[in-house]
Amino acid sequence: MTRIIDGKAAAGRLRDKVVREVQDLVAAGGPVPGLAVVLVGRHPASLAYVGTKTKMAEAAGMAGRLIELPDTTGTEEVLATVAALNEDQGVHGILVQLPLPDRIDAARVLGAIDPAKDVDGFHPLNVGRLFSASGRIPSDLLLPCTPKGCMILLEEALGDLGGRHAVVVGRSNIVGKPLAALLLAANCTVTIAHSRSRDLSGLCRGAEILVAAVGRPELVRGDWIGHGATVLDVGINRVAGEDGKSKLVGDVAFAEAQGRAGAITPVPGGVGPMTVACLLDNTLIAARARHRRQG
Ligand code: NAD
Repeated sequence: MTRIIDGKAAAGRLRDKVVREVQDLVAAGGPVPGLAVVLVGRHPASLAYVGTKTKMAEAAGMAGRLIELPDTTGTEEVLATVAALNEDQGVHGILVQLPLPDRIDAARVLGAIDPAKDVDGFHPLNVGRLFSASGRIPSDLLLPCTPKGCMILLEEALGDLGGRHAVVVGRSNIVGKPLAALLLAANCTVTIAHSRSRDLSGLCRGAEILVAAVGRPELVRGDWIGHGATVLDVGINRVAGEDGKSKLVGDVAFAEAQGRAGAITPVPGGVGPMTVACLLDNTLIAARARHRRQG
């Protein structure tokens, strides 16, 4: 029997914890955590994501602010917006929604965010702290949200991850690479596979923990999954359904995984909801850290 890992429920528990801790922070004389989300242009999926992020922040007792910049905005203007948010005392977390239009220098923009407000965890300083952590990850480190959510789901499902063989398919800076660093810090033996890997199915079959973060609908077939493996499906792919309407599928052939995987996250309702909950948790961590610094 394959167990379905309920990411929606886990995200609800994390959000409830954040709500309680925001109340505690404010009751102790701390600030209302503020999250600013910057969106350049009107990419339809991004519009939906940023709306969810600011609404969820407000539902958690935080101040959510959406800054929409026109599609014609250049790098310097985005940098000026980031600089103003860095100085803004009411803002504890800054997120620049990716992907940015091609003409914008995304690396410069991400590098300009105050690392203490970098709730996406993409600033090179925070990336460096993650990759150079030996043993325990510092609790105040702002971790990329999707990998952080994956680790919570894995630790809830399996307990101690030490010694397990984890295969991460995908090597992006947003998911694959930071997740591999977190798994390594949790004492897993980690294989990172990608588009140039040979014998991908064989690599996947050797995994006790298999994470697919590729963006290719149902790339991972049922017989790529080792018996009893724990599978996290990060992929979100919109495809045409049989009824002509579009539907979301992951990077794993979910029906084929039944009876083969020990446990698996569904799409939707698996890793996705954890990402937003972790963003709220990061905003709280950033607000609490600044309150402590300011005494
Ligand atoms: P990306 O395009 O930046 O990276 C994809 C990675 O997959 C690359 O490293 C590439 O080497 C690898 N890859 C591509 N084709 C491959 C193949 N045929 N075989 C093996 N590896 C291959 O994507 P990303 O930003 O890491 O996102 C991956 C997926 O996760 C997408 O579907 C995205 O929508 C989804 N995603 C979901 C969440 C969430 O909250 N659930 C968050 C971020 C991304």
